[in-house]
Amino acid sequence: MSIHFDVAGIGAGPFNLSVAALLAPHGRIRSAFFDRREQFDWHPGMMVDDAAMQTSFLKDLVLSADPTSAYSFIAYLVAKHRFHRFIHAGFTHVRRYEFADYLQWVAEKLPNLHFKHEVQEIRWSENGFRLQFDGKCEHARHLVVATGLTPNIPDWARRHEHPRCLHSHHYLARVPDATGLRIAVVGGGQSGAEVVLDLMSGRRGRTQSICWLSRRHTLEALDEAPFSNEFFTPSYVNAFHSLPMACKPALIRQQTLTGNGISHETLRQIYQTLYLSSLQEGREQRLRILPHRDVRAMECLPAGGWILAAHNGFDDRIHHVDADVVVLATGYLTRLPACIEPLRGRLNIDQQGHLPLRHDFSVPWDGPADHHIFVQNGGLHSHGIADPQLSLAAWRGAIIANAILGEERYATAAPPFPIEWASEAAPGSWSQRGQDHT
Ligand SMILES: Cc1cc2nc3c(=O)[nH]c(=O)nc-3n(C[C@H](O)[C@H](O)[C@H](O)COP(=O)(O)OP(=O)(O)OC[C@H]3O[C@@H](n4cnc5c(N)ncnc54)[C@H](O)[C@@H]3O)c2cc1C
Repeated sequence: MSIHFDVAGIGAGPFNLSVAALLAPHGRIRSAFFDRREQFDWHPGMMVDDAAMQTSFLKDLVLSADPTSAYSFIAYLVAKHRFHRFIHAGFTHVRRYEFADYLQWVAEKLPNLHFKHEVQEIRWSENGFRLQFDGKCEHARHLVVATGLTPNIPDWARRHEHPRCLHSHHYLARVPDATGLRIAVVGGGQSGAEVVLDLMSGRRGRTQSICWLSRRHTLEALDEAPFSNEFFTPSYVNAFHSLPMACKPALIRQQTLTGNGISHETLRQIYQTLYLSSLQEGREQRLRILPHRDVRAMECLPAGGWILAAHNGFDDRIHHVDADVVVLATGYLTRLPACIEPLRGRLNIDQQGHLPLRHDFSVPWDGPADHHIFVQNGGLHSHGIADPQLSLAAWRGAIIANAILGEERYATAAPPFPIEWASEAAPGSWSQRGQDHT
């Protein structure tokens, strides 16, 4: 039996949509992208009304790699007859539901996406990669794995599987009505802020109280300054990639707020909502903001509800919070999907469990060198802080598409810029040079 597809994509979220859209004009490549969802749906549990994109609409799936692509956000605006009014409306950041609609529009236009197709297992066979689905299998020469991140459930919450203790990605489905409830939101990033703002809006009824706990020392803003945004450019990612793996975690920690802070707009909305409610007697928000709080334990009370114990790093004391519902806005973890488990032993995974991805996002493995496994959204520790973000989706998609096409079909070179991240190669070490100059 011959290989059926040149490339099979596991997952059809935004990152694989980008690869699919960039491969679409090249009919000689037989590709298929499989997703277990019923249909395309981008983070539905967090599609709260006011949420805005944290990245420019120009950083879409294709534009920076192929400005002529039929799958750009601008092409979408034209197709939807909103081009002129979108410009007049003057959004700097579009609403998340508009961007989700754009992504869905792309998904509907692409001919090679297969929803309701969960990849259960992938093995290597003499016919290439063998993908097992419920009741059938397919073969492919290359894989592009883009199955997204896994919700991070802290240890203290793990044993409490309960509809009223939920990760933020289930927020809209599990908290349709918050009337009269005491809600604890754990996590001081963008998701926590969006849940708090949504609860404050009263859209889900008037809560009895909202307690917002964060380990951070205050509500920290996303760092969107021009030079910080350089971390989200091809030249920085190239420089970062060339560093030894051991140097990278410290840099990633230093850069946290460039990718993982609360947008200025969301912070302002929360502050203004608090201010305006203080003007209306009897309508004050019952919001308590608890920074420095590291939740250490949670117990289910016999009468129902929860009690959380948090260490307060400000005064080194333990703070208890009662709640009916606990929303864990505790972020996401990078995990290889279970379906790739049969191949795990053949992949190069370092001692920390990170994938030392090559520059083209392929994983070194011990199989034939002309069969590649590309991984998207799994390269935080190889490619840096931009990896889980949309900012470079088109660039990353173009690098992977080029590798599959076997030619530099899309330009991906980084233009020069005056920031010199890496040192010029110098003869000898620092100490030797110091001695030379004495
Ligand atoms: C609420 C939220 C808002 C965000 N907003 C922004 C933003 O404004 N700007 C930005 O740059 N980044 C943002 N991000 C980060 C990032 O852009 C998104 O998480 C993005 O969805 C990542 O795309 P992905 O394709 O890697 O994963 P996902 O969107 O998670 O898609 C993965 C897909 O894989 C499928 N799948 C998983 N396992 C299998 C399997 N075994 N078989 C078949 N299919 C499978 C899933 O069904 C899913 O559809 C946001 C993240 C969140 C959570």
